Amino acid sequence: MKFSIYNSLTNQQESFTPIEKGVVKMYSCGPTVYDFAHIGNFRSFLFGDLMRRSLELGGFAVQHVMNITDVGHMVEGEDDKMLAAASRVKENKKSGRVPEGAIQDPNDPYQIADFYTNAFLEDSRKLAYKVAYDYPASVPKATDYIPGMIEMIEVLIQRGHAYVSSDGVVYFSVESFPEYGSLSGNTMDKLQSGAGGRVSDTNQSMKKHPADFLLWKPDQKHIMKWESPWGVGYPGWHIECSVMAKAVLGQSRIDIHTGGEDLIFPHHECEIAQSCGCSGESHFANYWVHARFLFVEGEKMSKSKGNFFTARDVLEGKVTGKPVHPAVLRFELIKSHYRSNMNFTVKGLTDSAATITKLIDFRAMLESKTGGKSAEVDLSHPVLGDFSNALADDLNIAGALGVMHNWLKTDHRDAELSLAILKKMNSVLSIAPINEGTDGVEVAADGGQHGDGDAQAEDWRQQMVDARKNKDFATSDQMRDKLVDAGYDVQIGKTDVTIKKKLA
Ligand SMILES: [Zn+2]
Repeated sequence: MKFSIYNSLTNQQESFTPIEKGVVKMYSCGPTVYDFAHIGNFRSFLFGDLMRRSLELGGFAVQHVMNITDVGHMVEGEDDKMLAAASRVKENKKSGRVPEGAIQDPNDPYQIADFYTNAFLEDSRKLAYKVAYDYPASVPKATDYIPGMIEMIEVLIQRGHAYVSSDGVVYFSVESFPEYGSLSGNTMDKLQSGAGGRVSDTNQSMKKHPADFLLWKPDQKHIMKWESPWGVGYPGWHIECSVMAKAVLGQSRIDIHTGGEDLIFPHHECEIAQSCGCSGESHFANYWVHARFLFVEGEKMSKSKGNFFTARDVLEGKVTGKPVHPAVLRFELIKSHYRSNMNFTVKGLTDSAATITKLIDFRAMLESKTGGKSAEVDLSHPVLGDFSNALADDLNIAGALGVMHNWLKTDHRDAELSLAILKKMNSVLSIAPINEGTDGVEVAADGGQHGDGDAQAEDWRQQMVDARKNKDFATSDQMRDKLVDAGYDVQIGKTDVTIKKKLA
């Protein structure tokens, strides 16, 4: 199937040709694990997931890798990020986001990284971020690849792309790599004047060029440190992605690299310099794909404005006042095109919830009609053909959803066929309401986390029925309030009470 992707390298939409026929090697920059991932992070992760799943629907075998940054980024730059992380842990404990028993020592970076890695994987699986099901094989951690980083830095020094400065710090020399700036437009002469944003490092004077970036910093006293030929210290942030992409995907040149647009410079520019500097290849990734920013109710998300939301804030109801079903949040985050800024709103969540409810009911109807049996169907079916063609056109999600909504309105007399079509669509969207795990096993969209909650609600419902029989309306009202607080619609009939979980 023909795919086209907007390539940030050339600033145009290009037809997609993988290096190896039928196989796609894809790398996505993952989270820095010193706090919970926010909805902007997940917007960017889930667009990568949509791309991966769309390629899979199109028949490609996709090998998708995403890293966990548990060193490097945490310590790069002017301020001490670990101190900041420690104070955030205290903040998160106060607000109850981090349970009391977890991260016993908030000054231990390994405890912090471990806790947030697990939290990230948990959130990711709820949101059906497929690569997270394949942890750790496809989700490498930077701290497990320090020897590989040292090796790559040695090669870069041998090839004249890196040098040890007079104070012992190892830098990449941007002047050794004339293509530097080709992705971001931040070419060396522009950066010479110091207009390079985050190029700053503590020892500007020791660098040959102001845009030279850190590969290894010797630091005996640092909180995370390893032996190296340049002394005990720690690696720069950018080197980890070059190393892990090559190690896990097994080659120096890959097909697709994704990330948020904030990573284009310096991070992705530096990844290209390192990977190509090391391999001698003309490209690191053939297609660079970036998601635009996320806004909340039209404003930039920021802690000071009080509109900074983690994914679990939304799921747990901190934004809307009631729990939100993971499929609703996933849909909200994937339904706008990745190259438009996304505006996250409560209204949008409500609309998404209406769509998800409709899909869940539709699927339940089909399943009851067919006993869960579905027909065989492939992309030669016109509905699926249109659906997948839209996605193959640079992930035209609005087009794909349009196809789905029009199809929902048609008659579904052949329920087995309709169920098969819905399942195929859902293998990409993963919202209706089941996620397909990597092993083909269907996993509940909420990872089964709400199972106990449902039993609890059923218990309250039953108590309500019993209380009403005994004309104990005080208890009945009490139970109803509990159900409403837990996010249920409660309908009182003559002899029975029915409840339905509201999705947002
Ligand atoms: Zn990266």
